[in-house]
Amino acid sequence: MKVPKEEENMKAGIENGTKIGKDLESVLARLLCLLATHLPKDVAQRIREMAEKENDGAAKKVYDCMLENMSLADSLARPLCQDTGIPNFYVKAGADFPLLGSLEGILKGAAAKAFKDAPLRPNAVDPFTSKNTGNNEGPLAPYIDWQIVEGDEVEITAYLCGGGCSLPGFALVLTPGEGIEKAKELIVDKILEKGVNACPPLVIGVGIGASADIAAKLSKKALLRKIGTENGNPMAKDLEKELFEKLNSLKIGPSGMGGAESVLAVNVEFGVRHPATFAVALATGCWATRRATFRIGKDLKVVSEDFD
Ligand code: SF4
Repeated sequence: MKVPKEEENMKAGIENGTKIGKDLESVLARLLCLLATHLPKDVAQRIREMAEKENDGAAKKVYDCMLENMSLADSLARPLCQDTGIPNFYVKAGADFPLLGSLEGILKGAAAKAFKDAPLRPNAVDPFTSKNTGNNEGPLAPYIDWQIVEGDEVEITAYLCGGGCSLPGFALVLTPGEGIEKAKELIVDKILEKGVNACPPLVIGVGIGASADIAAKLSKKALLRKIGTENGNPMAKDLEKELFEKLNSLKIGPSGMGGAESVLAVNVEFGVRHPATFAVALATGCWATRRATFRIGKDLKVVSEDFD
């Protein structure tokens, strides 16, 4: 990972909470800028592998465009896509992390700084008036999801959540009788109907749980899991494999041009359900799935394994 210079300052200024907070904000802003311009290693690698395996002429051309896009975004330090999304942060915060109380302000400050520096596109729109707030800020923007854990470190997964790639998403509650078979049917039908709008090949996140909100949250978290990882539960892993094969058999291909594969990965996350409910949700990420995990130690050193 390209290490931002401020990291040294952060360590030097450990006694000065305000300065450290500002430095951390600055480092995280740089990392968001990096994320807007670079795919994480696992997504980039999977795109390259899919491009190599593809035999369809039109699909090959689309992959060539994606690879050229990635290379130009890197060399020119420009965003990979005009839709730079809305920053989402998924935070696992150690209860003893030194800046825990300031972290929300630091993340919001980092998003505001990256908005100007990257630059990121203003994507926050009032749902009633359709007025753009003009700065990517507003209720729940940036979105921050918290989990407090033991320890003195923080793990933050940042995701630049685009619009098109969110379009096929849904969350609903089925009866247990409908259960998993109906859930599979709905997911395949939805990708067939709207997958092309989400700039395939897609990352598919599936959440299963007791209620629509829990399933929706899990589907988004599933989206953030690295490509190539599997759910540790054998039945969830089988579901990932089955959906992966079914969705690829749709032959949607890159940008919907047809082709051998349609999905980058299928990740399933689940919680228990109520005896009377079977909630399922779908979240999708596009070929430009820009998410990366950063770890911040108690010495405030920032590390990520998602970039070269
Ligand atoms: S779906 Fe992804 S690649 Fe397509 S416009 Fe949105 S962010 Fe860009």
